[in-house]
Amino acid sequence: MNAPDTRIPDATIAAIGHWIGGRAVPGGNGRAADVTDPATGSVTARVTLAGAAEVDTAVASARAAQPAWGETPPIRRARVLLRFLELLRRDQRRLAQAITAEHGKVLSDAMGEVQRGIDIVEFACGAPQLLKSAYTDQVSTGIDNWTLRQPLGVVAGVTPFNFPVMVPMWMFPLALACGNAFVLKPSPIDPSPSLMLAELLREAGLPDGLFNVVQGDAAAVDALLAHPDVAALSFVGSTPVARHIYETGARHGKRVQALGGAKNHLVVMPDADLEQAADALVGAAFGSAGERCMAVSVAVLVGEVADRLVPRLAERTRMLKIMDGRNDAAEMGPIVTRTALERIRSCIDTGVREGARLVVDGRDFDGTQAGPGCAGGFWLGGTLFDHVAPTMRLWREEIFGPVLACVRVPDLDAALTLIRAHEYGNGVSCYTASGAVARRFARDVPVGMVGINVPIPVPMAWHGFGGWKRSLFGDMHAYGEEGVRFYTRQKSVMQRWPQTIGKGAEFAMPTAK
Ligand code: NAD
Repeated sequence: MNAPDTRIPDATIAAIGHWIGGRAVPGGNGRAADVTDPATGSVTARVTLAGAAEVDTAVASARAAQPAWGETPPIRRARVLLRFLELLRRDQRRLAQAITAEHGKVLSDAMGEVQRGIDIVEFACGAPQLLKSAYTDQVSTGIDNWTLRQPLGVVAGVTPFNFPVMVPMWMFPLALACGNAFVLKPSPIDPSPSLMLAELLREAGLPDGLFNVVQGDAAAVDALLAHPDVAALSFVGSTPVARHIYETGARHGKRVQALGGAKNHLVVMPDADLEQAADALVGAAFGSAGERCMAVSVAVLVGEVADRLVPRLAERTRMLKIMDGRNDAAEMGPIVTRTALERIRSCIDTGVREGARLVVDGRDFDGTQAGPGCAGGFWLGGTLFDHVAPTMRLWREEIFGPVLACVRVPDLDAALTLIRAHEYGNGVSCYTASGAVARRFARDVPVGMVGINVPIPVPMAWHGFGGWKRSLFGDMHAYGEEGVRFYTRQKSVMQRWPQTIGKGAEFAMPTAK
């Protein structure tokens, strides 16, 4: 995305606005940004960028709608989500096409993204069961005690460019199922899918005001963080912003979960099936052009594995089908923006300067090889480095692009030491034929999501998603039972009826009698 500006709008280019109170609302303050098709580099729309006034309108709309929704029985809330589920299935391809048009990822990958969002809606449809409370009969003579979970009120979500459907759907289906109203601030890089989701929710029968979209940048986020009527904020994005959101939200007394960046390692043990490991590494490193928080960006090659595996990786990297994501044959699409492309290229340049061995150089790939009309797009080929050292930028930084760094280590202990030393702890994986190695790895590694012979261990809807260390600020993971806890607060009720009350006032701490 280019820097926000206030140019006179080109009438031939679509304007993307907000969704407030159950209807589309154009931007009001004149600030806007270009939306581009990464495959061709052409500007396809202008997205409006909200200021505090628009955020205030959206929050007010959510606040007005929430009490009645919070009083609606969970089973009736779930019925709206069930209808939403049907509509998502109906429009899955249309949503995927919208993702590909603004993000660039290949269509099959975008279909998978929507499916992972659908999984969360299916989970949220279990709201009556998820919100069922715990009850203890007779905690003391004639007294019962139960806990219930009540909605927070208005909650907000701030989401990244790389999953414009799935990550919002980590948040709002559960937030709504739990009886809250939701304000979404999507990435301005790919803003259209958020509005499609809003339309589908309206078609599903969600009352107006319960789901709002404010398009925008940091200004909108800061307005949400400071807004007294926003009770909680879920964030997914880069670590510096996650930390800012967590600290600022906490200062404003909000509940915050802020998921940050990643640098995911995949360890290959000498006993692993190398064909499987090579396929896993190439798919996990270059799928979605490496623009996934669960992408594998470091291959940790144990013992003599490297000499056998690196040639296989090189061969597969060179054979990647890099094309416009709309082409069904494409395995990898373009990079999301020109800025991101330049940043990734500079990481590759630095890797070469710092002495890593560049085995496959993706900088040679340009749009002319990607398909008709792609010459102006943001293209880069799969890039493979060997002999990367932990001192190098290639290992230290999240590159968020199609760059795989191979680090050679002598044994499992050294692999674990390397992973422990990294500031991020989102995902990790180990390829091995040994149950003992797998068990030790899964128990010892300080990372939130672990795969054993699984390259991208994104947990299913009912297990919850979250990293450790600087990949997550806050206590609770996204979705799953932790998501239900995040979007509700616990109340404990202790009850006795007058006929069971015995003597007069008691001044000692009540205990079971
Ligand atoms: P980003 O941090 O630049 O932006 C994320 C969101 O924050 C966007 O909505 C953006 O508009 C907003 N934002 C940006 N700067 C801000 C600021 N200074 N103040 C307030 N809000 C601001 O991230 P991105 O480039 O859109 O996404 C890529 C990043 O997201 C990567 O670091 C990736 O690892 C991470 N990510 C993490 C997960 C996870 O689950 N841990 C999932 C997906 C993406």
